[in-house]
Amino acid sequence: AETSIALGAPVDVTIDAVAKDFGDSPALFGVSLDVRAGELVALLGPSGSGKTTLLRILAGLEAPSSGRVLFGGEDALGLPVQDRNIGFVFQHYALFRHMTVFDNIAFGLTVRPRGSRPPKSEIRRRVLHLLDLVQLTGLEKRYPTQLSGGQRQRVALARALAIEPRLLLLDEPFGALDAQVRKDLRRWLREIHDRTGHTTFFVTHDQEEALELADRVVVMSKGRIEQVGSADDIYDRPASPFVFSFIGESTLLPVVIEDGAVTFSGDPTGLAVNEAERREAVLGFRPHDVTLVEDGAPAIRGRIVATRRHGGRRRLELQVGPDHLRAEIDVEVGDERPLGTLIGFRPERWRIFPA
Ligand code: ATP
Repeated sequence: AETSIALGAPVDVTIDAVAKDFGDSPALFGVSLDVRAGELVALLGPSGSGKTTLLRILAGLEAPSSGRVLFGGEDALGLPVQDRNIGFVFQHYALFRHMTVFDNIAFGLTVRPRGSRPPKSEIRRRVLHLLDLVQLTGLEKRYPTQLSGGQRQRVALARALAIEPRLLLLDEPFGALDAQVRKDLRRWLREIHDRTGHTTFFVTHDQEEALELADRVVVMSKGRIEQVGSADDIYDRPASPFVFSFIGESTLLPVVIEDGAVTFSGDPTGLAVNEAERREAVLGFRPHDVTLVEDGAPAIRGRIVATRRHGGRRRLELQVGPDHLRAEIDVEVGDERPLGTLIGFRPERWRIFPA
């Protein structure tokens, strides 16, 4: 495979206690993160968690209220945007409509001042190379309006790579595309990353996208980093109820731990923890990680209020405890019970979080 393409030497990035206030509303509270050169990092979080703000600070489009950003160990905040050597792709492919695919990709090179501008033949070679990389060979004379959404996004990526960036910043680059195209582009982006080795930050609110694509996932909530880790860390060892519930379907129930036993709304659950002290906690489990048990066994008890098909299984919605709390569990088709039945279910892969 061709590997010698569009390589600005990738940099490592240090984000050190970066905070951002917009007027008196804080968007980031002292965020810190070290990213190795060549890493593909997903910034994952719900709307308003601060992902885009962090990306814009890296890009130099926004100045932090406090904190430091280092590229390759050197202060980046003093550098003007055009000297940061960063490639961007945004959700709404801002391609130049009046320019061909070729000219769009070449743009960042052709606007360079004389002296640092490569000769025409070199620009041509590079653009054709990039077209091959993003699998658009032959479409260089088309205009953006003559392309599909997915093709436009690939042109946008080629344009970002053309300047040989040290750092690639992608803000929901596939957000506007339909599910299948997103999936294809996701796999494709991972391949491109493996060939080019850019340090890449990728903003998404799609858990699956983050877990599938990234070397490390940074889960953000309300201007803070909740957890940083591999897909396995995030999925199997969530650091907080927020991460647990954001990363997949889940039920969270308030429980009490007393003498090592976990009780839910006053009843023993049969779950034990190695703790003597009484405290309130949160019990979390996923719908497919629990099974029905016979009445009388230690478990959480619930009344079935709704049932529906969920993939190959049946999803039961249960009312549990007082206060109209709901839990969802999945059972084998054929294993369901009539609506209104009071049943017990045992969380197999439960987690206890601090309240
Ligand atoms: P989304 O997924 O919706 O893009 P996000 O995680 O990227 O969300 P940000 O866009 O970084 O979140 O916004 C974080 C917070 O900062 C939000 O509360 C937002 O309203 C606020 N914010 C962002 N930009 C500005 C701005 N220019 N002026 C004022 N407030 C802003």
